[in-house]
Amino acid sequence: MYSRTQNENGTYNTRCLYCFMTIASSVETDKELARLEARHICPERALAELLEQEKAIESRSHVN
Ligand SMILES: [Zn+2]
Repeated sequence: MYSRTQNENGTYNTRCLYCFMTIASSVETDKELARLEARHICPERALAELLEQEKAIESRSHVN
């Protein structure tokens, strides 16, 4: 999930909503934004997914 904002000069910034890091700024095209977002390896998202997995495994093991 990313938050895109547009600058006064028409370029874009994009920020990751998991770690709140600005991934790119002053990007000129949508295509470039998508490319840069895809390249972002998010530590927070990886952690969140890991926790989700553990929760799922745990809840399964508690079912008798
Ligand atoms: Zn991130």
